[in-house]
Amino acid sequence: MIIKPKVRGFICTNAHPLGCAAHVQNQIAYMKAQGPLAAAGKNVLVIGCSTGYGLASRIAAAFAGGAATLGVCFEKPPSERKTGSAGYYNSAAFQDAARAAGLYSETINGDAFSDACKAQAIDMIKADMGKIDLVVYSLASPRRTDPKSGETFNSTLKPVGQSYTAKNLNTDTLKISELTLEPANEEEIANTVKVMGGEDWELWMQALADADVLADGCKTVAYTYLGKQITWPIYGRATIGKAKEDLDRAAAAIEQALAEKSVQANVSVLKAVVTQASSAIPIMPLYISLMFKVMKQEGSHEDCIEQAYRLFSECIYSDQPRLDDGNRFRVDDKELKDETQAKIEALWPQVTEQNLNELTDFKGYNENFLRLFGFGIDGVDYEADVSPLVEADFK
Ligand code: NAD
Repeated sequence: MIIKPKVRGFICTNAHPLGCAAHVQNQIAYMKAQGPLAAAGKNVLVIGCSTGYGLASRIAAAFAGGAATLGVCFEKPPSERKTGSAGYYNSAAFQDAARAAGLYSETINGDAFSDACKAQAIDMIKADMGKIDLVVYSLASPRRTDPKSGETFNSTLKPVGQSYTAKNLNTDTLKISELTLEPANEEEIANTVKVMGGEDWELWMQALADADVLADGCKTVAYTYLGKQITWPIYGRATIGKAKEDLDRAAAAIEQALAEKSVQANVSVLKAVVTQASSAIPIMPLYISLMFKVMKQEGSHEDCIEQAYRLFSECIYSDQPRLDDGNRFRVDDKELKDETQAKIEALWPQVTEQNLNELTDFKGYNENFLRLFGFGIDGVDYEADVSPLVEADFK
């Protein structure tokens, strides 16, 4: 079939197998060009490994760190008539490249929140890997089924305390309008914490420790975004921010519970990037389009892969990691520079539908969005008839 992007609102419902593979290859090439990370862990588990920050982290672990990786993701396989999800094709391409480079690579395609998935990962680690020395927790999900109660919780993207009205860009129609979001109630806040907070990260770490598959001094990171004034009402100080605050609690709890193993748990603060998760958050596409414009002008633009490399080299495996007073690794340093934020804040009120392409880098945003699904990648023939079917021996 000839595969062209099918964009509906803030999602793209299909993906290009060759484009996704090329996108992964480009990220691997970037990582290889950085040179090896001598101190890096050799057995790495990446939970949420197939797209965005998790995929970039897996590429960093394998192609800068030389690690064996076990990845966990939740992706849709292709059929004769429908393409698979981007994360499916990405993981297949990663696995081929890692194995071709002589690196162990296995991927579990299942629900990371479930006990069964954790047990399966532990069995595979015991059989193939020995002990894990880095666990990357990079899940982004709108819902979670509690493994004990069987109850399913949904997260919400709402402000906390008061309603919030702001300029919002509809990335499909390119209309800019005022969007008012009513504040979340207590139950919605609690449910969002249940889905995107630290509980599942703790359950993973405890299960791995109980099964004795964590190396002494094992490191673990979970990802968050903090942002500044423009995004606080919808992110940092909103329902998702409440969930992310819970990661700080979980990091301390993990270190305490697994002190015997000297486990080091750090929340890692990453910059805003275009991913399937972030494009669903109101305000973020316009903020990111402005941020791209400013940071590209400053020469400080970064995507997931650059962030992952800096996280590994400047924080996780550095003798002098950039930590804040909450024991969090900071890789959002360039985005949150006062002068960078001041430029974004000055442009924010000026943006209109008419000057969108002049004041912001919406073009760059949109190209980045399409690349997530394998579209617009140099060297890929999008007129060619390709099969959506790609073999992948995921577990
Ligand atoms: P993403 O949507 O690209 O990736 C999410 C990953 O989670 C995918 O690999 C997906 O398969 C996996 N996943 C979702 N539900 C699952 C389930 N039930 N079982 C197994 N796997 C599942 O998202 P992302 O933006 O890369 O986000 C990853 C983390 O980084 C999140 O914690 C997010 O908050 C954080 N973060 C994102 C940004 C940003 O701007 N995108 C900035 C800072 C931090």
